[in-house]
Amino acid sequence: MSAQAVVTHAPPTSKMIQDAESSLMHVVTRPGQVMTKGRGSYIWDAEGNKYLDFLQGWAVNCLGHCPPVLIRAITKQAKELINGSPALYNARMGELGKLLTDNSALDKAFFCSTGAEANEGALKLARKYGAKHLDGAFEVITTWHSFHGRTLAMMSASGKPNWDGLFDPKVPGFIRVDFNDLEAVRRAITPRTCAVMVEPVQGEGGVHVAKEKYLKGLRQLCDEKGILLILDEVQTGIGRCGTLFAYEQYGIEPDIMTLGKGLGGGFPVAALLAKDEVCVFEAGDQGSTYSSQPLAMAAGIAVVGEMLKRKIPNRARVRGNALMRKLRAMKKEFGFTDVRGKGLLVGVDLPKEVAPQVVAQCFEAGLLINAPGPNTIRFMPALTTSSKEIDEMLEIFSKVLRQLL
Ligand code: PLP
Repeated sequence: MSAQAVVTHAPPTSKMIQDAESSLMHVVTRPGQVMTKGRGSYIWDAEGNKYLDFLQGWAVNCLGHCPPVLIRAITKQAKELINGSPALYNARMGELGKLLTDNSALDKAFFCSTGAEANEGALKLARKYGAKHLDGAFEVITTWHSFHGRTLAMMSASGKPNWDGLFDPKVPGFIRVDFNDLEAVRRAITPRTCAVMVEPVQGEGGVHVAKEKYLKGLRQLCDEKGILLILDEVQTGIGRCGTLFAYEQYGIEPDIMTLGKGLGGGFPVAALLAKDEVCVFEAGDQGSTYSSQPLAMAAGIAVVGEMLKRKIPNRARVRGNALMRKLRAMKKEFGFTDVRGKGLLVGVDLPKEVAPQVVAQCFEAGLLINAPGPNTIRFMPALTTSSKEIDEMLEIFSKVLRQLL
């Protein structure tokens, strides 16, 4: 290696962006800053500018940026064994498996790397269950405005209207109905149906919370028809909604549940969990190169352990309620048409379709938030965020709204 090729200092921002632009496929338009450091609720760019992060990698960094407990766990594991093989036991897989099954209503786990992959596994499991127990039923009922990931099958399952026509032909076997409409699900069930798949809160769809009657009704309906209830808790799970899993607040248990995002607190790890009687996979049916990878397992153990030890889901519920209360108090001044959410997954509807502009101006003012729709703003801070940080966020948000509305 030549002396010139040894990089000792980060290159200037413009060079880093130029390299990224010239070498990466263009799939997203990014602002002109390069993020280089994160701690707790804050992230810094290469120029030293500090941002209050109420995005946290799309509800991923549940313990905030670079939490010491996660740093310690992955550093220790990296020194022991980063990657064994999915076909060999390692010392961490059973530990995370037990943490999740002991603390949920599900009995068995399969680990993978992304939410979409976990959902693909859920779909395969449901189809295999249908083949084995339901006369070959294979269709899954999903909902409009749902989001289950970006693999071709999950794009087919998701209910994003603007994905219609994209990458066609889609994977067949999905029937979409309106969210929170139990009768629509009842009408859509046929002898071909093997499962119903919903998010307890539609996150990407604009923070739409499932009604208690709806999820309870879905559970009852699935039992009546002998089909499976799959809950996609990729965004709602691991404390985000105020309990370790959102389903706990509905007094029901899913047959299959998927997790991702918060599970690794920033490290890519996801899981598919199921009740014993649904676990119909046989050896060779499911797998992944990074399944149960020790480093990912160590991250999951650290995050879930911390959630339980410090009762962080409870804290998320208290802070989330406070955030919603404060947003409701601002309703009159800004004309918000709705404030909703569960725990620290919170959305607010603006009176005008200016949400993308609000997000851009907040970014300029040092605040990261997100707009899942033209008039909807979503907040998904670290579950460890403080009241002071919530107030700081609301101050910047209000200032921007005063300019724009
Ligand atoms: N399911 C839900 C509910 C999600 O919110 C997401 C991502 O936003 C996914 C699945 C896909 O997860 P991933 O991007 O890790 O594949």
